[in-house]
Amino acid sequence: MAFEYYHQNLQEVKERIARACVSCNRNPDEITLIAVSKTNPVEAIQAMRALGPLHFGENKVQELVPKMKALDEDKQINWHMIGTLQTNKIKYLADRVDWIHSVPKLKALKEIDKRAEQAGRVIKVLIQVNISEEDQKSGCDPAELPGLLLKADEMQHITVMGLMGMATFSDDPELVRPEFRLLRELLELEQKRGYKSHQLTHLSMGMTNDLEVAVQEGATMLRIGTALFGKRAVDF
Ligand SMILES: *Cc1c(COP(=O)(O)O)cnc(C)c1O
Repeated sequence: MAFEYYHQNLQEVKERIARACVSCNRNPDEITLIAVSKTNPVEAIQAMRALGPLHFGENKVQELVPKMKALDEDKQINWHMIGTLQTNKIKYLADRVDWIHSVPKLKALKEIDKRAEQAGRVIKVLIQVNISEEDQKSGCDPAELPGLLLKADEMQHITVMGLMGMATFSDDPELVRPEFRLLRELLELEQKRGYKSHQLTHLSMGMTNDLEVAVQEGATMLRIGTALFGKRAVDF
């Protein structure tokens, strides 16, 4: 039953992405869909996974770690940590997580670099930038970005792949367009600076409510929970 429901949800999300791409002349292949499975059980991830998605996101270390373990045999899954990061928990992620989206400060970057080195890995990270007026705490200030990227450029066990942003919560997606646009402009600015090791090709922005606007403003990664798994009973 979940399978049919997920199948339909996935089709609808893909159609929304395809229509958004048509509206701005983009190729849907440029866009990675991250299925945000938070609060849903491992079985839900397996059911969704069977339909094709290869990217899964979680916003809590204590939820992500057991799920990565439970699905350890599925080496094709790309695991994304997308939620507020506590530096002291990075060590639990380092041997398996593929992407960390929510890195706002140097201390966290250093810890990821150190733990990735110990695990013999390179972890892809995105710098979370505060683009919303709502919450001053999530993400670095745009003005801090160049300094942060300069220091991160020396780190061998992370690759900074781009930027991540959370827009202001709103029922009207048009209201968040300037916030997404700001994130894209910041990325374009940093792309011109010529760092050694960063790749700076990705923009992680757009969720269930605002994915169309995010695609039109240049998102390369969409983090979609509700539209795929249904409304969460509990949220935090
Ligand atoms: C929950 C969550 C999402 C997905 O939100 P939906 O509105 O359910 O699509 C995306 N990004 C982050 C950081 C989240 O915590």
